[in-house]
Formats: sequence, C-alpha cells, structure tokens
Amino acid sequence: MSGLAINDITKKFGDFSAVDNVNLTVPHGTFVCLLGPSGCGKTTLLRMIAGLEEPTGGAIVLDGDDITALPTHKRNLGMVFQSLALFPHLSVGDNIAYALRIRGKPKEEQRKRVEDLLALIHLPDFADRPVAKLSGGQRQRVAIARALALSPKLFLLDEPLSALDAKLREDMQVELRQLQQRLGITTIVVTHDQREAMTMADLVVVMGKGKILQAAPPIEIYRKPADAFVADFIGITNLLPIETDGAGRATVLTAVAGLSLPAGMSKASLSIRPEDVGVAAPRSGALTGTVSFVRDLGGTIETFVDVGGTTIIAVATPRERPNVSVGQSVGIVLPPESCVVLKP
Ligand code: ATP
Repeated sequence: MSGLAINDITKKFGDFSAVDNVNLTVPHGTFVCLLGPSGCGKTTLLRMIAGLEEPTGGAIVLDGDDITALPTHKRNLGMVFQSLALFPHLSVGDNIAYALRIRGKPKEEQRKRVEDLLALIHLPDFADRPVAKLSGGQRQRVAIARALALSPKLFLLDEPLSALDAKLREDMQVELRQLQQRLGITTIVVTHDQREAMTMADLVVVMGKGKILQAAPPIEIYRKPADAFVADFIGITNLLPIETDGAGRATVLTAVAGLSLPAGMSKASLSIRPEDVGVAAPRSGALTGTVSFVRDLGGTIETFVDVGGTTIIAVATPRERPNVSVGQSVGIVLPPESCVVLKP
C-alpha cells in the first residue's frame, strides 16, 4: 500500500505502556491529527514514526517498506516541533537550504528550491532576512519550508502552532491545510486542540491511555463518537446518564427521546450536541427544566437549563434565539435523530 501502516506498535517505559498495541493505516496524501489528553501517548507514537524512539514491539511500514529499524535520517521525513529550532544566526534562505547544503546540492538548485518554497509559504523576497527579525507566524512558515526542502515522503509535526496566539493560530491552521493539499504530502500532526484537528484533518485519531479510541473523519467523530469520552473530548456535548430501572426499562431520558439501550447494556450515556437541542414552551418538549444561565456570545446564544440537577446546554443563532430568561420554566426538545447512545 502507498502510505503509512502502523502495525501493533507498543512502547513501554519500564512496566508502563505509553503506546499500547496501536494499529493505524494512513493512505498516501492523508492529513492525520493525533488528538488526546496530555500523556495519552501522542508524542511517543509520533517519535516512533520519526525513528526518535525505538518501539518495544510492532512495525512501521512506509510505502511498503518496513522502516522500523531505519535511522531517522534515512526515513525521508520532514519534521517540525514546537520549538521550531531555526538557526538564529542564519538567514531565512540559509535556514531553508540547510539540508540541501549538507547534502552537497549545487548552489543553483538550492537557490531555486528556496525561491519555490518561499513562494509556497507566501514569503517571497524573504531569503536574505535574518530569522531573528521574523514574526511568530513567519518563523512558523519558515520552519515548515525548511522541513519540506528535501521533498519528504512524510511530514511530521508536534504541536507546531501551540506557541502562537489564538487568531494567528487559526490562520495558520488553514494555511497549513491548504499547503498540505497543494503538495499532497502524507502529514501527521500531534495536537490537543480539537478545533485544530477538525480544521485540518482528513483523519482524526483520538487517543486515550496509549490506545486509539477512534480513528475517523472529523465529522464522523463529531456525529458518531465511539464513546462518551470521545464525545466529550470533541466539541461540546450534553451527556445525560441513562440507567435502567428494576424492570429493565430505561429511565426517563431514553424513554422521551424514543431511544432504547442496546441489548446487554444497563448503563449508558445519551449524547446530544447543544446545537441540536431545542428550547420550547414548558411541557412541549421531551423534558422540562429551569433556565439557569444565558450566554450571548454575539454569533451564538447558549441557554443553560437545569433538569433535575443535570445541566443541558442549547445553542442557537441570533435568528433562532429563544425568548427566555433565567428562572423561567422551559421545555427541552431532543430530536431522536440527533441523540446518540454511548458507552459511559
Ligand atoms: P502531551 O500532550 O502532554 O505532550 P502526549 O500525549 O504527547 O502528552 P507522551 O509524551 O507520548 O504523551 O507521553 C505518554 C506517556 O509516556 C506519559 O505518561 C509520559 O510521562 C510517558 N513518557 C514519555 N516519555 C517517557 C520517557 N522517556 N520515560 C518514561 N516515561 C515517558
């Protein structure tokens, strides 16, 4: 297969499994985001793909070749890490050309490649600028160009945008995705920002405790999360506990949504995204509660409703704004087609 295959990869530090028997297939040209809470094994997995960490078991196969034992410099990778590690005493052009120079490429080839890469990252005419005189976003782009200088087969980035402020970070996410699409290069990015993952990825890989919990396109992860942990990690969701009564019937929350518990499950969570929850007149919805807070963020309005001690959040656009205030009794509409029953 053309692309990357990670087969039964494990990394143990002493008795602790930082990455636990992970399998992943990444077709050529795919943009993958490894996502998960701190300590779940994202960086360790990326470092094993890069050859910076030796797996305890398993194999890494790139375009059909087993590269598990190959040293990093023979893997044909481009890498960008959070620290960027640009050479501060060199110009932008010399930073980008660095790998070409140490491989003895002719001067003219170096110049042409630097020119092409600078055009690609929207910094033409920057070749002679010292890197010390670049803004944060410009440094980021130069680090990306430098990593791409040797036209790698695989592009690996570890939290590449985390040092940037929120606005610049969002712009760079779009830019990085557009660049990757133009080049068609297989790319793997470690992030713990779910919005970043949703912006850039073809395939989001959600990890927890060294294992892959779900690997799927972003919208599938959002709409059909594998379990309550994934649902809560990707975007905002309302997670409502569902328990069966003594007679095996699901309690009110499932009954009203017209859902049933899968066979053999006595406990589950109902997940519904805030934008799918409707606010209506009391007793006209599936549930009735009391408005506890209203947050008007300009573009969206969030209504917090207390239903027997559980807070349900409904999000609306200004056009569909519910006319409610704190303390008011309201009905909650839970469209069955938007409700997902998940393992708790
Ligand atoms: P973060 O988002 O905080 O960077 P991460 O998901 O990238 O986290 P890793 O850095 O891969 O997590 O670490 C996974 C686990 O392995 C953590 O519990 C970490 O403490 C442990 N770990 C990583 N490197 C080593 C090491 N060299 N020796 C011992 N334990 C390690």
